[in-house]
Amino acid sequence: MKAFTYYKVNSVPKAVSLLAKYGEKAAILAGGSDLFGIMKDRPEGPKFKMPQRLIDIKGIKDLNYIKDRKGSLKIGAAATLSEIVSSDLIREKYPLLAHAAAQVGVPQIRNVGTLAGNLCQRPRCWYFRRSLFTDCLRKGGGTCYALDGENQYHAVIGGNGCCMVYPSDMAPALIALNARVEIATAKGTKMVPLEQFYVGPRTNLLRENILSPQEMVVTVEIPKPAAGNKGVYVKLKERDAFDFALVSVAVSLTRKGNMAVNPRVVFGGIAPVPLRSIRAEAVLNGKDLKVAIPEACKAAMDGAHPLKNNGYKVDAARGVLEQALGLLA
Ligand SMILES: Cc1cc2nc3c(=O)[nH]c(=O)nc-3n(C[C@H](O)[C@H](O)[C@H](O)COP(=O)(O)OP(=O)(O)OC[C@H]3O[C@@H](n4cnc5c(N)ncnc54)[C@H](O)[C@@H]3O)c2cc1C
Repeated sequence: MKAFTYYKVNSVPKAVSLLAKYGEKAAILAGGSDLFGIMKDRPEGPKFKMPQRLIDIKGIKDLNYIKDRKGSLKIGAAATLSEIVSSDLIREKYPLLAHAAAQVGVPQIRNVGTLAGNLCQRPRCWYFRRSLFTDCLRKGGGTCYALDGENQYHAVIGGNGCCMVYPSDMAPALIALNARVEIATAKGTKMVPLEQFYVGPRTNLLRENILSPQEMVVTVEIPKPAAGNKGVYVKLKERDAFDFALVSVAVSLTRKGNMAVNPRVVFGGIAPVPLRSIRAEAVLNGKDLKVAIPEACKAAMDGAHPLKNNGYKVDAARGVLEQALGLLA
């Protein structure tokens, strides 16, 4: 690992002033479960260098909370995934979120891993993560090694140029719950729907979200669920003990009798961003849920373009959606 300068900060203004000063040379350090793995392996490329300054935000008390605010839920960026899993408030009112958090890694990862760290983690593509592949597009090079290489874990939709998949379990669940993130800079804060936080390779090949090097996530806010709202997260893994999602889906909807109303369907593991399936939602909305399941599962994968080794993901995505909708029917 390359040497770095370590800053332990106790306030958000201090953290963002350091980000403003050092920009791309700095990184926020939360639990370190993702960041240190990358820094140890040093998979550098023309436009991907290891941070020289780490800004440790775990000492910022204002970032570690889970609270009900006039019916909506606010979670500080540095709340750990274990705290989310064991929160009575979340288990009672947002079971989808507790369920997704419980599926991240193992207890040790959830004990140190934070919510914002999970939402801002870097791709798990093995070409991106290995130091041998310096010409990787996501590191500023000119090659997507996965296109003609070992691509069994890669994208089947939206992999324009770079076909990595976004690995977070929390992102699909939070987008299904219509969450927003609060982003802080030295100039103030702004709220952004989480769905608009992520960007695909057409927009930016080097980063997975809209954060500039001077910005950080401070809060995640989830609106009050409608009466009768139900949600579920289904994750398919290669190793059952712990693993990243081959394919996952978060579904949130409101039941009115047999009918599904305002469904939100968000896949993980199949695209460079957590992918909302507007087509599946349109099929489900206002319909008898049980009757609409087969058509929704078919529509969800319209437009998929599997690579040489990942055609199974199309069927797997339909399968996890069928399972999720079956649990809600
Ligand atoms: C063995 C193992 C298994 C894992 N399994 C899973 C899994 O099944 N599902 C899953 O979703 N993830 C998994 N992860 C990925 C990840 O480590 C965790 O999800 C964890 O939540 C990351 O949080 P952290 O606080 O440790 O992040 P860190 O490692 O501290 O940070 C991760 C990235 O986010 C940035 N960052 C952190 N906080 C902020 C902030 N507030 N604002 C802006 N940027 C920020 C950092 O600069 C860094 O780039 C796994 C990791 C490991 C090592």
